[in-house]
Amino acid sequence: VAADPFSAPLTEKLVGIVGEAHVLTDPSTTAAYEIDWTRRWRARARCVVRPADTGEVAAVLAACHKVGAPVVPQGGNTGLVGGSVPRGGEVVLSLTRLNNLEPVDEVAAQVTVGAGATLAHVRAHVAAQGLDIGVDLAARDSATIGGMVATNAGGIRVLRHGPMRRQVVGVEAVLADGRVVQRLGGLTKDNTGYDLVGLLAGSEGTLAVVTRIQLALVPVPRVRVAALLAVDGIETALVIFSRLRRLPSLEAAEIMWADGVGLVCRHTGRPPPFAESYPAYLLIECAADDDPTEMLATTLSWTHAVHDTAVATDRQDRERLWAYREHHTEAISAVGVPHKFDVTLPLGALAAFEQEVRSHVAKAAPGAQVILFGHLGDGNLHVNVLGPPPEDETVDDVVLRLVARHGGSISAEHGIGVAKAQWLHLTRSEADRAAMAAIKHALDPRGILNPGVIFPSRGAGGGQQPS
Ligand SMILES: Cc1cc2nc3c(=O)[nH]c(=O)nc-3n(C[C@H](O)[C@H](O)[C@H](O)COP(=O)(O)OP(=O)(O)OC[C@H]3O[C@@H](n4cnc5c(N)ncnc54)[C@H](O)[C@@H]3O)c2cc1C
Repeated sequence: VAADPFSAPLTEKLVGIVGEAHVLTDPSTTAAYEIDWTRRWRARARCVVRPADTGEVAAVLAACHKVGAPVVPQGGNTGLVGGSVPRGGEVVLSLTRLNNLEPVDEVAAQVTVGAGATLAHVRAHVAAQGLDIGVDLAARDSATIGGMVATNAGGIRVLRHGPMRRQVVGVEAVLADGRVVQRLGGLTKDNTGYDLVGLLAGSEGTLAVVTRIQLALVPVPRVRVAALLAVDGIETALVIFSRLRRLPSLEAAEIMWADGVGLVCRHTGRPPPFAESYPAYLLIECAADDDPTEMLATTLSWTHAVHDTAVATDRQDRERLWAYREHHTEAISAVGVPHKFDVTLPLGALAAFEQEVRSHVAKAAPGAQVILFGHLGDGNLHVNVLGPPPEDETVDDVVLRLVARHGGSISAEHGIGVAKAQWLHLTRSEADRAAMAAIKHALDPRGILNPGVIFPSRGAGGGQQPS
């Protein structure tokens, strides 16, 4: 008589599904899966499981569901809100082996890929056909398409192409109990009930595990031009942006300040962008089939508020300008473990918020260093506070309440994770939260998928402790 597969201890059962080599329990092999990119969140996993395909993901989830074992889905582990690492004792479900790239459908301009494929791999895969993905971000070499769907990632081109949700045509996903749902028909029109694809985008691993994704692709424009503009501050940057946004070729408008750029220069050893230092910098990029440089120059010619400009058209020069912006996250983390806030404000409130957040943090945590940068065109600032220890959440409360008072959102693109769960009520009403909780309960009645993420599970801050 065959033994009941569920009577075996869970780890043994998981070994039976994915093979011994892909169930990790030894701390020397699990450690990298147990700490997040920021080093703020760390806890032991029950084990790390690395399935190879959808069938194995389904079997792993069915086994965990049967015994009520909590599961933390993990992609590239570049998330910045603690949602991809254990809170203590969960099964970490690593999706990186699901990295299959299917042939590009040139007629539909779509491609279907495994959830574990990295953004950089998928971009390289579709580039041969002159196509690209509408979303790009600095963590491209490690961030997976599954993780990007789960967080509804934004990045540097939201202005033109929207966030990840807009790029996703179809999804295959495994529900908490192991059942597989699939919308991979590639249909432009499909009004047949609730939009499961849209629902899973931004669900942060709390509703299902995404296993395959069908992406809409965008053409690669022939010419790109980047420009770094030295300005006095965010108010000037916003005035300039209000003109630039009329350019159909505008793809990115990023803001950074002198202190962040200085940090990047020290961290990477690169020279400052200009001979003189200026209070703030606006980095823009335009892309089109016809060279947009002249139109950009004309659009900027009316203003005398730009102190200095660096323009780059070839790839190497553009990457040199982008490096000042893209190395911010790692340069800040090299100084210490920051309190990170990824917030959006209405554009009209952005300048006031910038001033107030600096003064409010200075009052709440004297001596703390505040480094700001972000996606100006989306009203999205990344507020980084260095100084207060990770477990002291005074500044978190101060910053997020300030965001709510200005009519903003406490998460623009990184998600709620465990880091922001206790503040969700600031910008989502009780009715909103009840509706979300009902959806969560319907799809994951035992609450095994990523407990503590979005909805605090144990105590105000969720179960996971900052390390
Ligand atoms: C240097 C740097 C720059 C960044 N820049 C940006 C930026 O510009 N814009 C932006 O939006 N983000 C940015 N991020 C954050 C991060 O890269 C994104 O959130 C990314 O989408 C995470 O992908 P990942 O594969 O690493 O997911 P992980 O970190 O592994 O997981 C993130 C969340 O998704 C869940 N998850 C992962 N895979 C799956 C799956 N297959 N099914 C279900 N749930 C899953 C996890 O449980 C977790 O809750 C940046 C991060 C770094 C380190």
